[in-house]
Amino acid sequence: MVGVLALQGAFREHIISLEKLGVKAKEVRTLSDLSSIDSIILPGGESTVQGKLLRALNMMVPLKSMIEQGLPVLATCAGLILLANKIDNDENTYLSTLPVSVKRNAYGRQVSSFITTSNLGPLNAVEMIFIRAPYITNVEDVVEVLSMHDGKITGVRYKNQIGLSFHPELSNDLRCHELFLKLTK
Ligand code: GLN
Repeated sequence: MVGVLALQGAFREHIISLEKLGVKAKEVRTLSDLSSIDSIILPGGESTVQGKLLRALNMMVPLKSMIEQGLPVLATCAGLILLANKIDNDENTYLSTLPVSVKRNAYGRQVSSFITTSNLGPLNAVEMIFIRAPYITNVEDVVEVLSMHDGKITGVRYKNQIGLSFHPELSNDLRCHELFLKLTK
């Protein structure tokens, strides 16, 4: 069963994207919900709020170890921040399973939200919607870079984890979700 972390943020849109691909998802809201999933999407929203809720609900440590043991993850925007080993402009870290550094709200106030089209790994011309997005400032050698925008890394894969700065669930393009579903096979 595909799980979508449903504590805060744009989780419904991910569930709709999965439904369009014929996949029924489970909303993950509690510790016990974690036991019934074989993959998870971490949605965009507010990483500080999501991080606090994960801790308050005692989900942070179990979710971290599930990811370290191979649970496939698609993390978008705030979700990417939750996965990152380091956040350049924040002293917090959350799941710390992805060996990258990110910068929160990295595109500044003037152009904090925008849409662009770019390649993502094997995929051509993916529509990418950025909303107060982070970008990736540093990756360890083991991390595969999937996408860039303006010289900055916006998509990565490391083992069972895909991290994206943008919001594929707000686009009609379902190929990012398909890429994630392939990780689960
Ligand atoms: N700015 C948010 C954060 O720092 C991320 C924005 C998003 O997920 N669209 O957590």
